[in-house]
Amino acid sequence: MAAPLTASALLRALRGEGLVVHEVRNWRRHNRNTKGRWGLLHGVMIHHTATEGTESSVDLCYDGRSDLPGPLCHGVIDKRGEVHLVGNGRANHAGLGDRDVLEAVINEDPELPEDNAADTDGNRHFYGFECINLGDGKDPWPPEQRLAIEKVSAAICRAHGWSERSVIGHKEWQPGKVDPRGIVMDALRGRIKERLAKPAEGPAHPGDGATGPGTDSGGPGPGDSGPGGSVPGGSGPGGSGGPGSGGSGDGSGDGSGSGDGTTRPVPPKPQHPPYEPFPGRDFFRPGASGPAIAAMGRRLVAEGCGHYRGEPAPEWTEAHRKAYAAWQRKLGFRGKDADGVPGRVSWERLRVPNTQRMQAS
Ligand SMILES: [Zn+2]
Repeated sequence: MAAPLTASALLRALRGEGLVVHEVRNWRRHNRNTKGRWGLLHGVMIHHTATEGTESSVDLCYDGRSDLPGPLCHGVIDKRGEVHLVGNGRANHAGLGDRDVLEAVINEDPELPEDNAADTDGNRHFYGFECINLGDGKDPWPPEQRLAIEKVSAAICRAHGWSERSVIGHKEWQPGKVDPRGIVMDALRGRIKERLAKPAEGPAHPGDGATGPGTDSGGPGPGDSGPGGSVPGGSGPGGSGGPGSGGSGDGSGDGSGSGDGTTRPVPPKPQHPPYEPFPGRDFFRPGASGPAIAAMGRRLVAEGCGHYRGEPAPEWTEAHRKAYAAWQRKLGFRGKDADGVPGRVSWERLRVPNTQRMQAS
C-alpha cells in the first residue's frame, strides 16, 4: 500500500522506464476526487478500451461518456506503445470488485482468488491503464503495445516498491469483465517480474519506438460518433467492456464508496496553459478565423511545413490545410490522417503558443 504518486512522480517513473509519454490537456488536475476517495494505492489495473483510433480513444478516456464522467483511467496505451496521461487522482475505471482479490493484491499472494463479488471500490485503490484494443478477440496487440503495458506496470511497481503481483487485469477484479482480452495476465506478470529484476532503462531517446504514428483523426468508426458511441461487439455484460462500450459497469464504483469519502476542494484551473488547447476538428472549417490559426501557421513555418505567401493569415485557408497536411506527414501520418485538418495528436505535438496567454502577458 502506498500514498498516490504525484503527477510529476508518475511522469518521472514512466519516462524513467523508457516510455514515450504525452501529457493530455489538464491531466494533472483531472480526477474524480470530489466523488470518492483516492488512496491508499495497492496496485495497477490493465484494461482494453473496446475502441480504435488513438485520438478518439484518448479523448474518450479523458472526457468520459454522458453516463460515466472522465477520467476513465490514468493513462491510455496506444498501439505504438506510447502513453497518454489523462488523469491524476480518482478515475472511473475499476468499479466495484472483489474484496478477496484486493486482499490478495495487498499481500502480493502468488494466486488470485476468483472475482465473484462486487463489494469493494476499486477506483480508490488502483491505477488504471486503458490499452487501445477493440477487445473482439481479433484486434491484434502489437509488440510495441505489449512492451509498453509491461513497462508502465513495472514503472509504477518500481516507484512503490511493489512486485509484479500488484498488477491485475480488470477481468480479475470485477465479475463479468473480460478486459484486457487477449492479454494473459500471468504471462504479463512474469515479464514484469523479469523487468523489475533489472534497473530501469532510463529515458527514451528521440525516435525510439517510433514505428508509426497511429492515427490522427481517429479514423472512421467510433470516432465519428464521439464519446459514448457504440462499438461493434462492445456492449452488455460479458461484452468487450471498456470505456467505449455501452456497458455501465465501471460507473458502479464512483459513488461515495465506503461512505467515508472526504470532499476536497477543486483546484483552480490554470489561467492560460502555455500551448493553445486543441479546438476540435470541427473548428477548422471554411470561414473559421482566429489568432490561434495564425499562430498555428507560424509554428508550421518554423517546422518547415509552411507553404504561405507572406504571413500566415488568421483565416482558415487552403494554404493552412496544405501546410498542416505536410506537418501530419512529417509526423508519419498517412491517408485520411494527413488530410490537413488538425487532429488532437498532431495539434498537441505542434505546440502552438497560447494566444490568450500572449495577449495577457
Ligand atoms: Zn476495464
